[in-house]
Amino acid sequence: GGSVFSHVPQVPEVPLYAMQAAYGKDSSPQKLNLGIGVYRTEDGRPVLLDVVSRAEQLLVNDLSSFKDYLPITGMPDFNRLSAALVLGADSPAIKENRVTTAQCLSGSGSIRIGADFLAKHYGQHHIVYMSQQTYGNHPNFFSAAGIAIKTYRYYDPGTRGLDFQGMLEDLRSSPTGAIVLLQACAQNPTGVDPTMSQWKQIRQLIRSKGLLPFFDCAYQGFVSGNLEEDAQSIRLFVADGGECLIAQSYSKNMGLYGERVGALSIVCKTAEVACNVESQLKLVIRPMYSNPPIHGAAIVAAILKDRDMYNEWSIEVKAMADRLMSMRQHLFNALRDKGTPGDWSYIIRQVGMFTFSGLSPEQVAFITKEYHIYLPSDGRINMAGLGPKTVPHLADAIHAAVTTA
Ligand code: PLP
Repeated sequence: GGSVFSHVPQVPEVPLYAMQAAYGKDSSPQKLNLGIGVYRTEDGRPVLLDVVSRAEQLLVNDLSSFKDYLPITGMPDFNRLSAALVLGADSPAIKENRVTTAQCLSGSGSIRIGADFLAKHYGQHHIVYMSQQTYGNHPNFFSAAGIAIKTYRYYDPGTRGLDFQGMLEDLRSSPTGAIVLLQACAQNPTGVDPTMSQWKQIRQLIRSKGLLPFFDCAYQGFVSGNLEEDAQSIRLFVADGGECLIAQSYSKNMGLYGERVGALSIVCKTAEVACNVESQLKLVIRPMYSNPPIHGAAIVAAILKDRDMYNEWSIEVKAMADRLMSMRQHLFNALRDKGTPGDWSYIIRQVGMFTFSGLSPEQVAFITKEYHIYLPSDGRINMAGLGPKTVPHLADAIHAAVTTA
């Protein structure tokens, strides 16, 4: 007989993955992948931090303890250290036991667990506001949890910066209690973050309207090169005693993409609430995957708990942030030197891993066809995909696109 699945229609591949496949098939020696948002070294390799190698060496000596089950919410040391990393080692919220943290499957899994928890336990406020331009998977996490999605204005194509007034207006007109998804720093895809004084106003508005902030912290350290500095937006919201959710990822800042290691923290008003919330988080997690894997969390915990390794990590994070900044400067200089028409200063104003180039879908298609450079159609450039040797090729392509395409 026929398949019981014969009615299942095929859906097209997610564009970013389709682009990845096209890149793989391209035989040009000049091909350049600036699409998928993964950090790469100058010569295009995945990053392996020295401190991660060092931590792995330590773990290898004690393998048997790494084949056991973890608790549902993961490794206690990892959770405690992750909360301290994002909130600060002497955060009053941590001292007062108002924070519950669960090790989850990287940033993605942490957001999804948070969304499922909210769908189950956050009253009738089943609506989330996210920035109009955001990480492509953000809407999926929330719609899969049954939460309705609205957007707030964020990026201003005119200035290639923040549409701050638009953002405030949209948050002001959102319903009381709505969830607001915020990227803590290095906003994907725009490379545009609010300033601290803008964050203060955002915080004031969110608190005065009783909105619930949900931070996605996927790039801590990638903006300033300083882990503490890049967590300031979140700490501002925690300092006021109010509640929030925080999803952390170690994919980028520790180069642990494949280990799927991250954490969800829920900051609550009281220790009692945090304890109850934790008990319910377990009920969300257990039917999905029972408990998280050990290896990645063990690497992170080993680094975070040892002052020497932590310092080594901080230095490596700074080096990654500096490399991104230097690629921005290189690209900006190259376009300036070529006299490419337009104001390219936004390349050095934007922050983090991405430059939101403003190239049109037609210009992107031209660059891919003529120069074998792969970008998503929104023109987002992964600066980590560049090296000093490939910047001139990209500059040539952009120059040709804006002067001929
Ligand atoms: N959040 C943002 C803003 C991202 O850019 C990404 C990955 O690109 C993620 C979350 C999820 O990454 P991961 O699940 O590897 O932590």
